Amino acid sequence: MSKVALITGATRGIGKQIALTFAKEGYNIAINYISENEDVENTKREIEKYKVKCFMAKGDISNFEDCEKFVKEVIEEYGQIDVLVNNAGITRDTLLMRMKKEDFEAVIDVNLVGTFNVTKNVIPYMVKARSGRIISVASVVGIAGNAGQTNYAASKAGIIGFTKSLAKEVASRNILVNAVAPGFIQTQMTDVLKDNVKEEIAKSIPLGRMGTVQDVANVIKFLASEESSYITGQVINIDGGMLM
Ligand code: NAP
Repeated sequence: MSKVALITGATRGIGKQIALTFAKEGYNIAINYISENEDVENTKREIEKYKVKCFMAKGDISNFEDCEKFVKEVIEEYGQIDVLVNNAGITRDTLLMRMKKEDFEAVIDVNLVGTFNVTKNVIPYMVKARSGRIISVASVVGIAGNAGQTNYAASKAGIIGFTKSLAKEVASRNILVNAVAPGFIQTQMTDVLKDNVKEEIAKSIPLGRMGTVQDVANVIKFLASEESSYITGQVINIDGGMLM
């Protein structure tokens, strides 16, 4: 029977590439999305080209009830969830002096509380199956910090603490919990940066370039595979050597 991968926020950017990469591996896919636009149908079509199933549902990961409903629907559809990738995330960048309370709370609610909301609803099925992989997308910013991103860095550092704690809780149930920490990856999230800023960033990266969505998807594929069966509670940087 085909394995099932649930990926949050996967109708564009890194999440979409993760979903396509798992589809190519033969996984049936479950995707949660928030905006209704042409990305939704396009993503479904691209995934189904790999002759796997693609279940999609609209839902806000910062809303616990949305997550509860979505996970139930995925179980009704497929009967199992083998891999959960907590990918969906947002930024609301500005210096703390200027940051509104709503900007801080919105980023924590989506990135960190959202990771809790989805994982909390998925974990009982993995515990019952005595098997599972949970991979959350953190950021190098959650390790090193970044001016203008106190909210985002706090959310990503929170994901790292969450990952390590959960890894300890569920290791005995054969559930492996890891995080990845991308550096600067080319997506709509980083497209907003000015060209000169992007050039400066590329210069500061030992490998001399920003990462691609496939660079991230490759590591997540590895963390979901049998080849990584002795790795849990880890954070793997995917950053061209930015942090060493
Ligand atoms: P992106 O292009 O902005 O895509 C973010 C995705 O998350 C979109 O699909 C978005 O849905 C979804 N999303 C946002 N809020 C949501 C919510 N409340 N409920 C459900 N889905 C929601 O970002 P990306 O660059 O691919 O980033 C993906 C992940 O990697 C994020 O966690 C990000 O923090 C992390 N990351 C990115 C970089 C980078 O350089 N790009 C670096 C480090 C870490 P809509 O399309 O509907 O808005």
